[in-house]
Amino acid sequence: MRIGLIDVDGHNWPNIALMKISAYHKSIGDHVEWWDGFSQYDRVYMSRVFDDTYSEDEPEPCNAAEIIKGGTGYGLDNRLPDEIEHIMPDYGLYHWMPQDTAYGFLTRGCPRGCHFCIVSEKEGRGSRKVANLSEFWSGQKKIKLLDPNLLACTDHMELLEQLVQSGAWVDFTQGLDARLLTEQNIQELNRVKLTEIHFAWDYMQESDAVLRGLRLYAKLANRRPHGKFGTVYCLTNYDTTMQENLYRIYTLRDMGYDPYVMIYDKPNAPHEVRLLQRWCNNRKIFRTQPDFERYDPKRK
Ligand code: SF4
Repeated sequence: MRIGLIDVDGHNWPNIALMKISAYHKSIGDHVEWWDGFSQYDRVYMSRVFDDTYSEDEPEPCNAAEIIKGGTGYGLDNRLPDEIEHIMPDYGLYHWMPQDTAYGFLTRGCPRGCHFCIVSEKEGRGSRKVANLSEFWSGQKKIKLLDPNLLACTDHMELLEQLVQSGAWVDFTQGLDARLLTEQNIQELNRVKLTEIHFAWDYMQESDAVLRGLRLYAKLANRRPHGKFGTVYCLTNYDTTMQENLYRIYTLRDMGYDPYVMIYDKPNAPHEVRLLQRWCNNRKIFRTQPDFERYDPKRK
């Protein structure tokens, strides 16, 4: 079969589902390529991670006998069949991107069920192991993990040990759940070669539990990527006031973390919140002028 692939988001981030689909079809002898308008395809896969807020949909191609659409941008109930889900991704599909990085999920799901997040609805109200590292890592120097809540998985110590044994540089791209940090798992995290670690402080009512975890991590962590203990996502424009946004940002700054403003429903966010994001997320600006009240957006 001739297979065409469309990465609808077109972002500078490899689409894991398409890399697995590519690997699967190549393994059964099919011809796989990025879709183009001049060829005829037996099947075209369109994959879309983001919804209309962040990415525009593509029209369906008319040069395909069959079209399969998937990804959270098209709905929460589409899943890859097991024989594709658990295959080593075809990283060469994105040949223009660095080939020294592996991407994947060790766990899926999250027990928290935050109202602004689709993970629990899509992947289940609980974190469970779905793969060993060797399923998507084959010796690359770097690993980017996309797990939604690794620490909530009962197997997380075993999975952290796999990361330690890999010797690769690891980026926990999604927030690790600060409320679940313990002396034991921090000691294990200390053995992982970290390029980046992210936490999250989204709800004000979770402040005590989040701060307990972040304080413990700051006390025990032996690695400081980019000079800070880690990056902490702060959700804004959801259910917090500007005063509460600043409280979280200043508290994190003073604890030695890098706060990072996330905006809910960004297209409709107030100007002040967008300004807050521009100030806080640009580390150079933030470190030069650590007080938002004194930030002048006209000055670089
Ligand atoms: S803890 Fe994170 S992954 Fe889990 S539901 Fe909340 S935002 Fe989503």
